[in-house]
Amino acid sequence: MVSVLIAGGAGFLGSHLCDLFLQRDFEVVCVDNLITGRHDNIQHLLHNERFTYMNHDVTLPIEIERDLDYVLNFASPASPPDYYGLPIQTMLVGSIGTHNLLELAKAKSSVFMMASTSEVYGDPIVSPQPESYWGNVNPIGPRSVYDEAKRFSEAMTMAYHREFQLDVRLLRIFNVYGPRMRPRDGRVIPNFIDQALRNDPITIYGDGSQTRSFCYYQDEIEGIYRLLMSKVTKPVNIGNPNELTILELAKKIIELTGSQSEITYKNLPVDDPKIRRPDIRRAQQYLDWLPLVDLHEGLQNTIEYFVGLSNDN
Ligand code: UDP
Repeated sequence: MVSVLIAGGAGFLGSHLCDLFLQRDFEVVCVDNLITGRHDNIQHLLHNERFTYMNHDVTLPIEIERDLDYVLNFASPASPPDYYGLPIQTMLVGSIGTHNLLELAKAKSSVFMMASTSEVYGDPIVSPQPESYWGNVNPIGPRSVYDEAKRFSEAMTMAYHREFQLDVRLLRIFNVYGPRMRPRDGRVIPNFIDQALRNDPITIYGDGSQTRSFCYYQDEIEGIYRLLMSKVTKPVNIGNPNELTILELAKKIIELTGSQSEITYKNLPVDDPKIRRPDIRRAQQYLDWLPLVDLHEGLQNTIEYFVGLSNDN
């Protein structure tokens, strides 16, 4: 049986990947220390005999006896408020954690996938962002703990590829949303939905003219799977190019929830990117992948999930 280890497997995307790989007949080892991941996300998998959960911090050396065909590094805080609050852990997981997982992949002759990010492009001056763009990152600002950790992870992954011929995949994830995000995750979609459902003010940072392009998690994990199964060792953007402003997003969420919320404006975080939109021609060409779920449908599903959570409480 084919086996995959997912570091960060109890997180938002990681847990959806656990589900996907189990559905596709893999054995799954989920490693997470639950700093930002949640046991609830994998609770339904604990009785599956092809699923193993290890509570482990990947900044500590990791020993696994069994063979592994694939090692995926999704371990890191990903929401800006999370990594602002965990700056050192974020840098350690991107550096030592990535190193430990690369060593594991090397020892097991596994394919290694690094979950990188559109944040490697920083505050881009090129739009849309192709993988060939080197980015515009402030190396000493508060965001750098995440951006530079991911850039370092990419560099280390490529060093293992060149030095040891490790078979690698470099995935650049753009903004993703969907069920299993925490209502207080701090990212824009969970924040706005949570606020709208409570009829609390919707907090726009800055004037709301900054743009993002949001990909529904089902599209994202299908793209991730296709990249893993491909032979592509170059970085690949996986995201939805449908770009909109944060003000447009706020209005859309107010409309879909039927909320009475007002919009309120707060300070823009330091170095907040003004625009972001993936160039996905590489994913289209090499993986035959395109996102299929539009924002309207994806937001409706996500709102339903949040409504369910508030009914549970
Ligand atoms: N944002 C906002 N209000 C919020 C949370 C975020 O206006 O309550 C803005 C944030 O400043 C950024 C965009 O929404 O411009 C996306 O933020 P998020 O934290 O989701 O992810 P980012 O793309 O910045 O990593």
